[in-house]
Amino acid sequence: VAKDAGRNRYSIFDFETHVSRIEQGRILEQAAKALDEGQFEMYLQPKIVLANHRVEGFEALIRWNHPEKGLLGPISFLPQVEHTEYAAEVGRFVIADAVAKLQHWKQLGLPYSLSINLSPTHLLSDRFVADLQAALQGCDPDVRSSLIIELLETTALNDSGRIMGILLKCRNLGVQVSLDDFGTGYSSLDHFRRLPAQEIKIDRSFVSDMLTNADDEMIVKSIISLSKNFKRRVVAEGIETQAMQDKLIDMGCEQAQGFFYSKPLPADAALAWAETYQQR
Ligand code: C2E
Ligand code: MG
Ligand code: MG
Ligand code: MG
Repeated sequence: VAKDAGRNRYSIFDFETHVSRIEQGRILEQAAKALDEGQFEMYLQPKIVLANHRVEGFEALIRWNHPEKGLLGPISFLPQVEHTEYAAEVGRFVIADAVAKLQHWKQLGLPYSLSINLSPTHLLSDRFVADLQAALQGCDPDVRSSLIIELLETTALNDSGRIMGILLKCRNLGVQVSLDDFGTGYSSLDHFRRLPAQEIKIDRSFVSDMLTNADDEMIVKSIISLSKNFKRRVVAEGIETQAMQDKLIDMGCEQAQGFFYSKPLPADAALAWAETYQQR
């Protein structure tokens, strides 16, 4: 693209690349320190069972309590970390944090599951299964089965033989697998049926527009029926209104997640929210 635009485009492109490299270097340096100093924190967003309005569990979403910039969301630093050694370091932190939370919850008698997001760099690396196994060392089966690993549908398409092997090993370790942002990739139905995932998450873009766009509604409906026919649990993300929730209940969707229920919250606040929500 830069080439087609001619010589000027070239130099602008190079300049931007140069600046973003410096910025990336700075973020990586800070991220390494942030891991050591405990500046990362997992915020939790509840997943609601639509049939009975119980909280099935939570999705853990990373936040960076940056000393100067304040609270940062993943979009502002994970892309710079991806494809570097820190992708796996962040991943190991996320896994360890989730296992610790689940063990704590089981001691308290809380039945919640916990979903985590992992970077493709880490998930597809040789270390990943060993990292997961190490983190789960000595954990009870109910802690293991309450841990849900989310991978993007687009990651699942990467190298299907390799990803299939990794996911099967995850399943053998007793954890669950979920396909995140489903509908945005190009999965064939054959690939879909062979992927060892227990859960499908419908991408927010379809859910957001399903009340105003008949095509999006049809896509949501189709993903729900595809998931059910293949005995996968189906979760809709990005529910912002009562009307969206009611539509999903009509369409037979099993679980929902979104600002309509709760934004991602610090762990204690999320647990308190769940208790109140289930007592209504
Ligand atoms: P995701 O896994 O699809 O997570 C859902 C994102 O949608 C979250 O953004 C969440 O805050 C947001 N969201 C939830 N409900 C609503 C809603 O009703 N409306 C709207 N507009 N947004 C909603 P967040 O926390 O900024 O995370 C963005 C993405 O970053 C995640 O998308 C996930 O792919 C990635 N991510 C988050 N945490 C981690 C992590 O610990 N590790 C890795 N590798 N990726 C992460
Ligand atoms: Mg996710
Ligand atoms: Mg998602
Ligand atoms: Mg997403």
